[in-house]
Amino acid sequence: MERSSIIIGLFNVEVKSVDHEEIRNYVIQDYNDYINPSLLRLLAFMGVDQVEDTAEGFKIKDIAGNEWIDCLGGFGVFSVGHRHAEIIEAAKAQLDKMPLSSKILLNKQQADLSRKLAEITPGDLQYSFLCNSGTEAVEAALKLARLHTKRTGIIYTSNAFHGKTLGSLSVTGRDKYQEPCEPLLPGCSNVPFGDISALLRAIDEDTACFIVEPVQAEGGVHIPDVDYLRKVEEICHEAGVIFIVDEVQTGFGRTGRMFACDQFGVKPDMMTLAKALGGGVMPIGAVIAKPEIWDVFEDDPLIHSSTFGGNPLACAVALKTIEVIEREDLPLKAAAAGCRFIDGLKKLHKKYPEIVMDVRGIGLLIGIEFPDDDMGALFISTVVSHHILVGFTLNNPKVIRIEPPLDIDDPTIDFVLSAIDESLNDVQELVRSLG
Ligand code: PLP
Repeated sequence: MERSSIIIGLFNVEVKSVDHEEIRNYVIQDYNDYINPSLLRLLAFMGVDQVEDTAEGFKIKDIAGNEWIDCLGGFGVFSVGHRHAEIIEAAKAQLDKMPLSSKILLNKQQADLSRKLAEITPGDLQYSFLCNSGTEAVEAALKLARLHTKRTGIIYTSNAFHGKTLGSLSVTGRDKYQEPCEPLLPGCSNVPFGDISALLRAIDEDTACFIVEPVQAEGGVHIPDVDYLRKVEEICHEAGVIFIVDEVQTGFGRTGRMFACDQFGVKPDMMTLAKALGGGVMPIGAVIAKPEIWDVFEDDPLIHSSTFGGNPLACAVALKTIEVIEREDLPLKAAAAGCRFIDGLKKLHKKYPEIVMDVRGIGLLIGIEFPDDDMGALFISTVVSHHILVGFTLNNPKVIRIEPPLDIDDPTIDFVLSAIDESLNDVQELVRSLG
């Protein structure tokens, strides 16, 4: 179609009205020509090649005016929902004052946020380095661990997901993502998640750190035994290995407590954070560490730095986000809503044993496992036809994740469960018809 039909001429301010289908067509064309044609094909296959427009709470509207229930939550970004009024207000107020930092003068918003993070995170975590994403937080944590211990070895868990920049990718346990980019960071080795003996065998005198998610989210929602992380903590302390817990996805209430570390009763040496910290409004990441690790900045305070990290706009938004999460008791709400969701899904697991292999979850981080990736994708496309957004887990596409805003209400959960029931029925009939 003629793109120029929607462009306001320089001297002619009259705008021709544009049909939403026309807009969708050229957005699709632009994805094909300028973004990622293969991603576009995947989104089209799952039936989500619609153009989002506005969002509020747990609902998204597309440009055609259709409403979608967001049960994916931007992979864990929208824990407080979309466009929480107070958070938007905090962002606007900071925009009017000073959105980005001079990087030379002191910045109050960064100070306030770092103090707050020290107050709410477990144990002696105190000093924060602020950045803009989860993978940057992981990069910083790995670097600081090496600098502090003066060792080079890094142990991670198979099937882990810690990000896709080269350092984080070196500890993201999926061959499909790692192999095409090799050689990766030297000195990284993996052990099975949940396996204490393997960790004991892998640690040697050159091990700087062990990085682990408290619950493997992108790996397919795997919850460890209750005492796994406590044993890991003990082993790491005995060996002088930095124990890094990656709470980028689990942090800020997702699992039913402020941090999953609180649930498992562990106090890591470093914790990585991002996603929900930005209140669904701003990108922000953080690594917070025990004070002794910060000796790495003694000789050179700029040994690690970021131009945009710790900017006042993101910090003001993150501070307000934490205030909202605490005041609205969102971790508790996530725990209750998670029980209702998981109970309902477990009943559906019993009803459709041929196609649902497992249902597992903690708080509002929930996975439904199918026999293979294709059936997972088929399930997504049927749920999507009910205008409910769900997605697969990145390291394990046969597991479909449900990760809605933490204050999703009971009627909506029940509505989603009945749509999932119908979708499973459709998938089962199709599978049976194919023999
Ligand atoms: N760590 C964990 C546990 C994650 O789940 C993710 C993203 O899903 C990351 C790190 C990377 O975060 P980002 O995509 O913001 O770089």
